[in-house]
Amino acid sequence: MTAHISAAFDSGNIRVLSQDKDRFDLEIARDHQSDFYQWFHFRLTGAAGRTVEMRIVNAGRSAYPDGWPGYRARWSDDRETWRQTETSFADGVLTIRHACASDSLWFAYFAPYSIERHHDLVSSVAALPGVSYRSLGRTLDGQEIDCLTVGEGRAQVWLYARQHPGETMAEWWMEGALARLTDPADPVARVLRREATFHVVPNMNPDGSRRGHLRTNAAGVNLNREWHEPTAERSPEVLAVRNRMDETGVDFAIDVHGDEAIPYVFLAGFEGIPSWTERQGKLFARYRETLARRSPDFQFRHGYAVAGTGQANLSMSTNQLAERYGAVSMTLEMPFKDNDDLPDPEFGWSAERSMRLGEDCLGALHEMIDALTA
Ligand code: ZN
Repeated sequence: MTAHISAAFDSGNIRVLSQDKDRFDLEIARDHQSDFYQWFHFRLTGAAGRTVEMRIVNAGRSAYPDGWPGYRARWSDDRETWRQTETSFADGVLTIRHACASDSLWFAYFAPYSIERHHDLVSSVAALPGVSYRSLGRTLDGQEIDCLTVGEGRAQVWLYARQHPGETMAEWWMEGALARLTDPADPVARVLRREATFHVVPNMNPDGSRRGHLRTNAAGVNLNREWHEPTAERSPEVLAVRNRMDETGVDFAIDVHGDEAIPYVFLAGFEGIPSWTERQGKLFARYRETLARRSPDFQFRHGYAVAGTGQANLSMSTNQLAERYGAVSMTLEMPFKDNDDLPDPEFGWSAERSMRLGEDCLGALHEMIDALTA
């Protein structure tokens, strides 16, 4: 059989530039109307029993070239279990070499989270007792912006993910968090539902997700630079979510992401906002310390540089929410590589570990839920 590579499916992204038997030169397509690219997801057929070399020749000019050294591509034969495979980066080219045991294999930047799986998640959670569903609006491609509400307490908690659609670990985190939050027998979840109302947007950017984008929506807009002045033309996703937040208020929020370069899980806060208060700062520090104590996959030695006083970028959601609502808000970053404090050579950072982290993030919130509305 002749080997073949294709990407014409939900969240697919790759172009075949040339093929010489089992050696491919590939390139990642840019996000529509944007220069960002890094997400890839493709299928390889017809190569059982042979080793295939796949060279992504435009990797060096991608959005985050620092994401490639130390990175290993994920592959699957059943689209459920995603393992790491031999990957190297040199001279701007990312080379994936895989000994194929099957005639139908899948490769991706990280375990994909398809729009179909998103619909399954939203539908199954919305059907549970105590959960209500609300569409906050429509995207430019005409998809619903799904929001699930759980709990009846005073504290208003917002969890939202995948502003950057290629960061699929963010929606795996959501799957783990929602499973715990809706568990009728989990004592942590029972207290959280009593003390707080959760507004959960599992996917802020369904258009970018389906299109196979890294970082932007259908108009090529980075949604996490729109929170100061979202518009219906450029960023209806942000406008719809922020309008609903204006109605509910926000006491606590997590914006869930993945980071291409840094091999750790970490949080970024809102240090440089104009109206920063010591109370907000202390609660953020307390959350970070609590999560580090609960999860060996979380730490706060490594992360982003902290903005100086008054230097916060208010176009980013975490800063905007802290400034606008006085919220304790934060950006959670998980690696595309691995957590170097607790590496797993077979799987790297994974969908499963993202889900466990989602559960632990709720556990940490439980420890301080009283303080949010005190
Ligand atoms: Zn991101």
